[in-house]
Amino acid sequence: MAETIFDKIINREIPAEIIFEDDQVLAFKDINPQAPTHFLVIPKKQIATINDIEPEDAALIGQLYLAAASIAKQLGVAESGYRTVMNCNPDGGQTVYHIHLHVLAGKPMGWPPYQNTMKQQLP
Ligand code: 5GP
Repeated sequence: MAETIFDKIINREIPAEIIFEDDQVLAFKDINPQAPTHFLVIPKKQIATINDIEPEDAALIGQLYLAAASIAKQLGVAESGYRTVMNCNPDGGQTVYHIHLHVLAGKPMGWPPYQNTMKQQLP
């Protein structure tokens, strides 16, 4: 599988603002934040997209959410709330092909996120 920029962050080949690490998971601030708090939680294992998650990865995916909730609590945004997003492939908006959970917080977010674009496409 092709190496991505996130492998370079895992291997400390490029810098990142790392906020959590254990043997399976890494979390760091997004370089182009879309909310006052925006960090990414990734598995150290290379998994390109949600479509490539295997049954054996089920616990690992759970670890991403446990880390996200724990970090949100540490950053003081757990009670006000946050959004988690994992994009898949081009229509999902994925640009880095190493799965990552976006965690966005610090402002109220609208729902659905695609409201305006969908309206334009309706007949
Ligand atoms: P995607 O579009 O694949 O769901 O999200 C990729 C995310 O990775 C984007 O929000 C982008 O800002 C972030 N990103 C891309 N390259 C880097 C980088 O080198 N460092 C950090 N910290 N974030 C990155």
